[in-house]
Amino acid sequence: MINRKSKYEIKLLKAAGEIVALAHQAAKEAIKEGLSTWELDKIVEDVIRKNKAIPTFKGYGGFPASICASVNEQVVHGIPSKDVILKKGDIISVDIGATYHNFVGDSAWTYPVGEITEDVQNLLKYTEESLYAGISQMVPNNHLEDVSAAIEDVAKAHKLGIVREYGGHGVGTEMHEEPFLFNYRTGNQGPLLKSGIVIAIEPMLNLGCDEVYQLNDGWTVVTADKKPSAHFEHTVAVTDDGPLILTKRD
Ligand code: MG
Ligand code: MG
Repeated sequence: MINRKSKYEIKLLKAAGEIVALAHQAAKEAIKEGLSTWELDKIVEDVIRKNKAIPTFKGYGGFPASICASVNEQVVHGIPSKDVILKKGDIISVDIGATYHNFVGDSAWTYPVGEITEDVQNLLKYTEESLYAGISQMVPNNHLEDVSAAIEDVAKAHKLGIVREYGGHGVGTEMHEEPFLFNYRTGNQGPLLKSGIVIAIEPMLNLGCDEVYQLNDGWTVVTADKKPSAHFEHTVAVTDDGPLILTKRD
């Protein structure tokens, strides 16, 4: 069942989303050559806790940290580590969740570390573009498949691989609620979108093939061809006035 949120609940989701946005701002400012993903985790956790929120990911399914930090060919769910030191030319996908007064904000972003190649710049640019294409479809009386189709069209136009095993999801007092959102067409139009539906839209696109697999650590997902992957995510509400991005940054 898809749980539609009241205006008051959306206010709380937005408050959680604003904390996620602040945490991303801090991450963006901190990311540089020589920083470990463990240090980045601490920086983000600090911002979340200083704002009286809880890092949603910590302990979720046993996940050991506050952020997912996925470098280069890592797609999602990378575990922060003192041994992972950022280098010039890397990209890092940082996924952040914060729970505030029981409501969750969820947003991921891929950041460059110094100069990156033109191919990788385009991967970031078009994955972000696919996110906004998906967001633009978050209006009443569209179907969920319209969001998926918009993401797929941008990915296909730029010949990027689409990760199929993971996708977007409803967000509320739980990080993962119904519905599941595919990042490509399935041929099923899915539920009708109505005001109060809140979904984390999160395309994961690859410079190479679609295929991914999970490492033996039980978490980290990597591309099968070891080519870089990008991940952009916002938590978004359908409203009568159009899509409302709850994790928006300045
Ligand atoms: Mg996320
Ligand atoms: Mg998510």
